[in-house]
Amino acid sequence: MVKLKKVFLHKSRRKTPWEEEENRTPMQEFLYQHYSTHYDDRHPPLSETGETQLINSYIPTVCPYCASKTIKMNGHTRNGVQRYKCLDCKQTFTPVTRTIFEGHKISLSEWMDYTLNILKYVSINADSWNNRNAFTTSRYWLEKLFLLLECYQSSLKFSNQVWLDETFYSVRSGDITRTEEGNKLRGLSSNQMCIGVACDKSRTLCIFEGYGKPSQKKTYESFKEHIAVGSTLIHDKENAHKKLVRELQLNSIAYDSHKIKLLSDKDNPLNRVNRIHNLLKSFLYAHTSFNRDRIQGYLNLFAFVMNPPENHLEKVEILLDLAFQNPKTLRYREFYGVKQKQLTPLCSFSKSQNTTLSRVLWRKTKAIDTTVQVRIIIFISLIIFVTIRFKSQ
Ligand SMILES: [Zn+2]
Repeated sequence: MVKLKKVFLHKSRRKTPWEEEENRTPMQEFLYQHYSTHYDDRHPPLSETGETQLINSYIPTVCPYCASKTIKMNGHTRNGVQRYKCLDCKQTFTPVTRTIFEGHKISLSEWMDYTLNILKYVSINADSWNNRNAFTTSRYWLEKLFLLLECYQSSLKFSNQVWLDETFYSVRSGDITRTEEGNKLRGLSSNQMCIGVACDKSRTLCIFEGYGKPSQKKTYESFKEHIAVGSTLIHDKENAHKKLVRELQLNSIAYDSHKIKLLSDKDNPLNRVNRIHNLLKSFLYAHTSFNRDRIQGYLNLFAFVMNPPENHLEKVEILLDLAFQNPKTLRYREFYGVKQKQLTPLCSFSKSQNTTLSRVLWRKTKAIDTTVQVRIIIFISLIIFVTIRFKSQ
């Protein structure tokens, strides 16, 4: 069973069962042709997509191997990509060397399609079917996306009015701890992942705080760098917020969560953060069986989806800039060769790199009303739902 599952996961979805068949039936021939044409349309050769010019527009200023500035142009690759040579370490490289696009034949347009799907809450399983990729490839690309965004939230800092509240998401059913009688643990237990969500009027920050009820220490450690001293904190009367309020000298406006539950959304002072909780759950449900060890990766991605700029193409543009300006590699074998627990993101940017990151990420920041975000997400969900229903008929 395990073996079968493994074969299935690694199986490329770009092939039909009749590749070698000489005498296909008319129906098999139709399906074969339709499937292959669809795949070819979506995966044109590199030279036809204009991406060689795009790659060449990124001009490296230092050698990706030794950081030397003495580099010179050194001919082109087979696809017309500019090659460079380092005069110090003598290595040759191109603008994609040591980026997420190195050593893999992902065309940028394929990657762009993939990213747009993920930004629209499409699960990686659905995406792999859609793009005819093996599930493992889609999962690997997702990890590359996580890598690009691993420091995305580190530069987020709120001031003035800040909302803060926790939401909980269950561990995978196989990891649920039960009592000796086989019952689930009651209340907030180690079976619940605690996700702290803070926001201002236009931006969202999501941090995995641990399992079960949050503590004052965890909450303080999670949010101390993201809320400016003297801000106003709008929250419920959660005990875990006390240290944060005290240490950052916050002006605390705390509501009784039992009482405000009875209010309409319009009158609920925590409505903004509640709505983000709901959207986050929809996002996580789209990846329902995801690896919980990568929860912070999913949260970084969710925050990226929620925050400005609003347009998904502008988001992809930011990701591409990040890929070329903050080179990071993740080789396929490395990814599948190590336990994923070992891939815990390390946000180890230097101050200057972080400034570049902030510049790339926040240069287009403009406030978006959450109402607009909610409408867009509902609209996209409806389209996905209708498409799935239509296809299954
Ligand atoms: Zn070098």
